Amino acid sequence: MKAAEIMAQLQAKHAEEKEFLQAAEEVLISIEDIYNQHPEFEKARIVERIVEPDRIFTFRVAWVDDKGDVQVNLGYRVQFNSAIGPYKGGLRFHPKVNLSMLKFLGFEQIFKNSLTTLPMGGAKGGADFDPVGKSDGEIMRFCQAFMTELWKCIGPDTDVPAGDVGVGGREIGYMYGMYKKLAREYNTGVLTGKGATWGGSILRPEATGYGALYFLENLLKEAGKDIKGKKIALSGFGNVAWGAAKKTNELGGQVVAISGPDGVCEIIDGITDEMIDYMLVMRSSNRNKVQDMADKFPAKAKFTAGKKAWSVKCDIALPCAFQNELSEDDAKELVANGCWCCCEVSNMGCQPGAIKYFQSNKVYFAPGKAVNAGGVATSGLEMTQNAAHLGWAGEEVDAKLHFIMKSIHEACVKYGRQADGTIDYVKGANIAGFMKVATAMVEQGVL
Ligand code: GLU
Repeated sequence: MKAAEIMAQLQAKHAEEKEFLQAAEEVLISIEDIYNQHPEFEKARIVERIVEPDRIFTFRVAWVDDKGDVQVNLGYRVQFNSAIGPYKGGLRFHPKVNLSMLKFLGFEQIFKNSLTTLPMGGAKGGADFDPVGKSDGEIMRFCQAFMTELWKCIGPDTDVPAGDVGVGGREIGYMYGMYKKLAREYNTGVLTGKGATWGGSILRPEATGYGALYFLENLLKEAGKDIKGKKIALSGFGNVAWGAAKKTNELGGQVVAISGPDGVCEIIDGITDEMIDYMLVMRSSNRNKVQDMADKFPAKAKFTAGKKAWSVKCDIALPCAFQNELSEDDAKELVANGCWCCCEVSNMGCQPGAIKYFQSNKVYFAPGKAVNAGGVATSGLEMTQNAAHLGWAGEEVDAKLHFIMKSIHEACVKYGRQADGTIDYVKGANIAGFMKVATAMVEQGVL
């Protein structure tokens, strides 16, 4: 297999799908050498098959807004790969959602889910619906309309969606309600990220951020370092950044920045628990403005319009918002200001030029599919609890999450250790995730 040749074919076939091509290229380059040491992969054309989804559903979502006007959105579900288990992956509601975005996210999910050690295939879905400024009634009607199509494609043992950008516990609740009504099936395991009183994992809201910090702890330990007193810049202020901020405080780090589409809030002397709680209020307001933090806590947070979190001096950068949110110029600014570690918590949060810059400047860098896998891993635990009809205490879920993040870190080290002793976490994560899926595909025959 030659990564460049496969990429040229993909470019020709899917020229418009920029994000998907970016995600595919990173994986193909990482796995090229090891793939070519396995003739059984080449014989089964694993790489040509793994880059095409099993199937894609697209559908119209029509709903009525508060003014009585009819709105029309486009809904999707990309079922990418089922080699190691039922399809699993989130739903994203964002005006920029398109097939390229969901194919990139679904593709990433294959390897991420494989890294979790749990039996889950890869999928992603969503809609080009913009939750910003929508009332609760509009959110409910949209979620219900979305589910009237999606329900046929999913099921507790076939495909299990969850949240992602723009989809949290409230949306999952509305979608589950409509699923239950249409399917006349009362198995809560069809969606994860549910409310804690009706089958949700106690720790699912925190899990992505907590898991990222556990991964970071492992990475720092491997590097002979510690998180205590380190300045951490986070982007975003949504569910992922919230969990990351909570755990940073617990572990003795200091959050020095959060950000939003409107700009950055530099946090003076580290974020407080009260401010972390306020992130939830900001999120549920659907205003999408980080300036609200500075308005509420003027002595603690200084807002600058139009700036990113990467303009604030820090030791560790944690992108927690959106793909490609950290550019090569941002990486240069971070390094010039003394940043020496970056863990992607968002999916593909760094542009390829930023990753190259970090790696060539000896900045510890780890990719989203390893760092943020705690979210989907906890979803996997939620599925297990639902299938067994039981609930686990938060401590039990947390202990399992710790173990999973440690295992993911070990897998990255195993496959990413370079001749000079350093660890290429991008390569490590991609190879570790790929090997399991590719082996399963060979064993299951040509499909
Ligand atoms: N959207 C999250 C992710 O990117 C979670 C998916 C899930 O829990 O299924 O991994």
